[in-house]
Amino acid sequence: MSDDASGSKTERASQAPLCVSVIALFPEIVEANASVGITGRARERDLWRFRPFQLRDFAFDTRKTVDGRPAGGGPGMVLMHEPLARATAAAKAWHAEQNDLPTKVVLLSPDGARFNQSIASSYANEMNWIFVAGRYEGIDQRYIDAHVDETLSIGDYVISGGELAAAVVIDALVRLLPGALGDSQSSVTESFSTGLLDWPQYALTNAAGNADIPPVLLGGNHAAIDRWRRDQALEKTMTRRRDLLVQAQFNGLLDKKDEKFLASLK
Ligand code: SAM
Repeated sequence: MSDDASGSKTERASQAPLCVSVIALFPEIVEANASVGITGRARERDLWRFRPFQLRDFAFDTRKTVDGRPAGGGPGMVLMHEPLARATAAAKAWHAEQNDLPTKVVLLSPDGARFNQSIASSYANEMNWIFVAGRYEGIDQRYIDAHVDETLSIGDYVISGGELAAAVVIDALVRLLPGALGDSQSSVTESFSTGLLDWPQYALTNAAGNADIPPVLLGGNHAAIDRWRRDQALEKTMTRRRDLLVQAQFNGLLDKKDEKFLASLK
């Protein structure tokens, strides 16, 4: 079980590994993050499987052309729909070898739904995702109309390709898989999962280096530490992201002690 940002409980349909593939011109960018740290360790333990697809492998000519000039003129190039369609068929075949559950195709694009922790949580509960990374001016609309189930944006800015966006999305959902984090509580207490931003963290060093750490964190009273952290999270969220605080209140995620603390700040 894991909490999503709205506070509702979600559970993976199966304990079978999540299967993720990426269709891209530079899949090595996604592969790099899929091979290190939490995502890499989770993959080694078969909590999730990853398969990159190099779009050029699905070109129709020996020069491996995957882009064409935009119909109607204008700057840049557009990824052609036929190689993308062939790559998608190959990715779907790989997913079908992993399990017999449905596969969704997600395009990374600035015009997509804004990605957030709640979407990450819902994606982590399904089985098969194909992420399609655009480049240049973007992707032929005929491919989008015929093959894409969902479109995601990582924010209101433009980056050069969808690979980094895919890596961000994949990282966010893999760390929510049961067992992916060393401490299973970590994803529950992180920013957004509680509806609030995270509290400030301090690293213990040596006695002299710990002098500036708030004394409550060194006192060993776990109830007091929990309260201090909760209050800090409330204060930070109120100061930096009042919209999140309002949402948390609306979703009933704050109790009387939280409200009392917030009232004391005003
Ligand atoms: N012409 C496009 C536009 O104005 O919306 C921008 C294309 S961008 C240079 C190339 C690719 O980067 C896109 O097809 C998309 O895959 C990816 N991309 C850029 N910004 C993104 C964002 N904010 N979220 C997700 N993907 C993004």
